[in-house]
Amino acid sequence: MKRLIISLHFLLCTALWSSADEWKSLTVGIPDICQGDDPIVRHLYVDAVRSGGHCPFVIPYTTDSLAIVAALQRIDVLMLTGGEDINPALYNEEPSIYLERTNNRRDSFEVKILKVAVALRKPILGICRGMQMINVFFGGTLYQDLPSEHETNIPHRQNLPKNKPVHSVGFERNSRLYDILKTDTIMVNSLHHQAVKSIAPGFRITAKAHDGIAEGIQCDSLPILGVQFHPEGLVKDGNIFQRLFKHLLEILFH
Ligand code: MN
Repeated sequence: MKRLIISLHFLLCTALWSSADEWKSLTVGIPDICQGDDPIVRHLYVDAVRSGGHCPFVIPYTTDSLAIVAALQRIDVLMLTGGEDINPALYNEEPSIYLERTNNRRDSFEVKILKVAVALRKPILGICRGMQMINVFFGGTLYQDLPSEHETNIPHRQNLPKNKPVHSVGFERNSRLYDILKTDTIMVNSLHHQAVKSIAPGFRITAKAHDGIAEGIQCDSLPILGVQFHPEGLVKDGNIFQRLFKHLLEILFH
């Protein structure tokens, strides 16, 4: 038994040592998506964080600001995930008749989390709704209903499963996304009803679909980045999307 414990300890130390050698394993905070009484995060995001060699950390819903501070002090990176439409009241607009389901509890939780994360200068990665929430938080606006507000023949809301890419995205050369992905264009999935309309002050659009819709944003003065597509749905061992999760700090700080 003692022998077993010693060899397990050795294996654990070796694993930690070799991973620390290549990159730092980070604690990635993923907020509860506020879908009921129990904390929930979607497994695809959890798996993607693990696939990048990092540790997912669920942040359960709370209105207690001190509990939010305590949680955020423990993480290295904040990841905001996909979900419902964002209440347009957050950017001072009346709701469109085509606005879909919103989640005020989640909106207010994520706004509180963002306030603390920014104050603590935590790196932030927003995916889909997460990117839109970052844009709104910093003073940008959204297309409340993309089909009625921006004519396009690109299927931004695919019927195909999340692991199927449906449209191309072009990257700015001078961007963190380009530095990590090292490609001008890539095929991505697309499962969004809303999109960035006016970009928040201090941010710029670093990736676009052919129709001009923002598919990536970054802040140049803070380690904050967003993607409109869902890399967690496309990640596979060794593929280009895994780089986003593997090199989290590099994409955020580059
Ligand atoms: Mn899209």
